Amino acid sequence: MVSLDLVTGKNLAAEKSGPDHAASSSFARTDLVGLDRAEIQKLLVSLGLDDKEARMRTRQLWNWIYVNGITDFEKMSNVSKATRELFLANFSLKRPEVISEQVSSDGTRKWLFRFKDPANPNLPPVDVETVYIPEPSRGTLCVSSQVGCTLTCSFCHTGTQRLVRNLSAGEIVGQVLMARELLGDFPGGTRPVNGLVPRGETRAITNIVMMGMGEPLYNFENVKNAMLIFSDGDGLSISKRRITLSTSGVVPQIEATGKETGVMLAISLHAVNDELRNKLVPINKKWPIKELLLACKNYPGVSNARRITFEYVMLKGVNDSDADARELVRLLANIPAKINLIPFNPWPGSPYECSDWETIERFSDIVNKAGYASPVRTPRGRDIFAACGQLKSESERLSKKKRDALSGA
Ligand code: SAH
Ligand code: SF4
Repeated sequence: MVSLDLVTGKNLAAEKSGPDHAASSSFARTDLVGLDRAEIQKLLVSLGLDDKEARMRTRQLWNWIYVNGITDFEKMSNVSKATRELFLANFSLKRPEVISEQVSSDGTRKWLFRFKDPANPNLPPVDVETVYIPEPSRGTLCVSSQVGCTLTCSFCHTGTQRLVRNLSAGEIVGQVLMARELLGDFPGGTRPVNGLVPRGETRAITNIVMMGMGEPLYNFENVKNAMLIFSDGDGLSISKRRITLSTSGVVPQIEATGKETGVMLAISLHAVNDELRNKLVPINKKWPIKELLLACKNYPGVSNARRITFEYVMLKGVNDSDADARELVRLLANIPAKINLIPFNPWPGSPYECSDWETIERFSDIVNKAGYASPVRTPRGRDIFAACGQLKSESERLSKKKRDALSGA
């Protein structure tokens, strides 16, 4: 057991800022959200716990954080007072600040969440968007991986926001924890509306897609660590089959995604020849279609039961001809694939129009006749700018000079 001397020894900040677990003092208590078990255990051992107790306390902490959704160490009723004080003095359980919530006429919810920079609280906070899409049979949370994006896909609103920074694993997990809290998904929570929970389920959030702001494979380690907490039976306990990562095609990270996370993969294909894809999804110049499809064919764990989803945005007069549909089918011939046709969602100043409905149906027919289920993704939350590719926040990238000045470098 830990002595209280150790607590006070490590607890200079608590004296300064009081025992508020989410205090924003300049002393950074270590935030436990997003840390794996080994990291928490190590922290506990560094505070003087022996290995056995550190393991046990780590299990308890994970359970309180992810199963019970607790943000207050005082509520950890199976933990002794002295240990709760130790936690309080050294750790935090942060959630983002909710800046706004918008609810679409179709029930889709979009939140703007604000995070302080974990590494440097003097830097301005960043804002990210997270979207909840309720359907009768599932509830999907669309999670952001970066603030802005380095890539500049020409049909995507996020692509017009420069990358501000990567989100930490804790911030990625924090979006899910906050959404669960707001949707009443933790024990004892309050549902914002009746009938939110999909049929046959006990929770409002049953699926997670890494399809919010940013390119998840350009923030691989943090996204991976967050997804491992999503899928862990003692974490958020969402099956890997219900977690999908969407990438614009960062080929060198695709194998590691399969091997190290085992989640479902979605590829933003959007064009069937390199010339057009270079324009729509410029990362194609680095890793062209042939290399991308080879990585998909070899995706660890891919099978007819675990297919890769190919996303295809329908752009009027650009990529929506019958010949494009036939070529799409030919390209995917050797890959266990699903095709997801996404009607283009416009945004202010966007240079494209969505294909006509008949064109989308004709395209979809060709793909269906070739044996693919090709659901057309019904646009959700367009009225609140929550649909695919419409997310963007006001956060701006700071110049190096300004960053250095603010962080006191
Ligand atoms: N950066 C990742 C994930 C985020 S985007 C990626 O590109 O895959 C999620 C999906 O929405 C991608 O398939 C993306 O290409 C698509 N998308 C982007 N802008 C869109 C728009 N305006 N209308 C419809 N889909 C869009
Ligand atoms: Fe970035 Fe994806 Fe948008 Fe491309 S489609 S700009 S990769 S978020």
